[in-house]
Amino acid sequence: MKVKRKLKCSICGKTYDNPVQRCECGEPLEFEPFEGEPYIGKSVWERFWDFWPVEPALDFSLGEGDTPLVKSRLGDEFGIKLYLKNETVNPTWSFKDRGTFLAMSYALKAGYKAVGTVSTGNMAASVSAYATRFGLKAKILVSESASDEKLKAVSVYGGDVIRVRGDYGKLYFESLKLGERLGVYFINSDNPFRIEGYKGIAFEIAEEVSPDYVLIPTSSGGLFRGIAKGFIELHESGLIEGLPRLIAVQAEGCSPICRAFHEEKEKVERFENPKTIAKAIANPYPPSGNAVLKLLREFDWECVAVSDDEIRKAQRKLAGEGLFVQPASATGIAALERLDLPEGAKVVSILTGSGLKTLSDVPKEDIKECSLERLAECF
Ligand SMILES: *Cc1c(COP(=O)(O)O)cnc(C)c1O
Ligand SMILES: [Zn+2]
Repeated sequence: MKVKRKLKCSICGKTYDNPVQRCECGEPLEFEPFEGEPYIGKSVWERFWDFWPVEPALDFSLGEGDTPLVKSRLGDEFGIKLYLKNETVNPTWSFKDRGTFLAMSYALKAGYKAVGTVSTGNMAASVSAYATRFGLKAKILVSESASDEKLKAVSVYGGDVIRVRGDYGKLYFESLKLGERLGVYFINSDNPFRIEGYKGIAFEIAEEVSPDYVLIPTSSGGLFRGIAKGFIELHESGLIEGLPRLIAVQAEGCSPICRAFHEEKEKVERFENPKTIAKAIANPYPPSGNAVLKLLREFDWECVAVSDDEIRKAQRKLAGEGLFVQPASATGIAALERLDLPEGAKVVSILTGSGLKTLSDVPKEDIKECSLERLAECF
């Protein structure tokens, strides 16, 4: 099926006319930049119509995107103006829905009857939900270690969940091969359409503020690449004056991109024995790692790693603002302690997913017990 733009390898520059998933060199592909103008419309899909590689299948939308940008008091402590982009309100409670919706719009148009993904958490739930919405079959490949608890939130939508024994890193590439052979369109973490869907986060932010910094929890690198591409396209279209500085945030216990960046390595290397409570950003060998590394260097952006203790503290701070996020999504706020941002800087932190998905990580609070007769004494 023809799409509106060629795809270009993010590393070697080779171009492709058809929407293949990855370059022959093994690195991710991305659509050549879109330019356009914004329109009046209810959804981000309509307002930024010129910027998508395939027509969004609006009839099947579940209302993903158009999330609130919340002004936060947490910036006061650091002398900055802080905004929280609340992606927890998406249909399956994470930003993954934006990319899933756009990639599935393509899969439907291209005539696929089945879609798939490789994930343990948020992406699995998202692809499962949208597959049933779009009337497609879903093949969800999960690692051996995925807990029953997590898989419940995936299988409720009715897709086939398959536990795979073996190297989880290899599964990503194996799934693309198998998908091509069996006619299943795999929408993995950095699928080119998925990345395009994430641009909406940049578009919506730019509609409300012109940030100096954007803090982005980063695992496979898909989200980071999508937000970067969104701001770059706005800039090239003359819709914003300058680019914000993007900051990739990782958990110390699994920070392959930050490590390669700070050690000035040419390529991202596998992070051995990953260990962090921020499970949603614990990909030890990120498929878009080298592409993110290239962006960080090209634009003089930054990568920050934060500890589990700092993540827990940030999660509580956000809860104190009325927003309950999962550990991975609190890393941006944790990073504020480590960054010395200029007084008055406008900063957006992406709250990537809901805390209700990771309830077992939350410490039990003391709950008061009280009888009805003595209720007043308990206040
Ligand atoms: C997927 C995910 C991320 C990281 O996104 P990548 O595209 O893998 O870098 C961050 N936070 C949450 C909650 C996620 O589900
Ligand atoms: Zn290439």
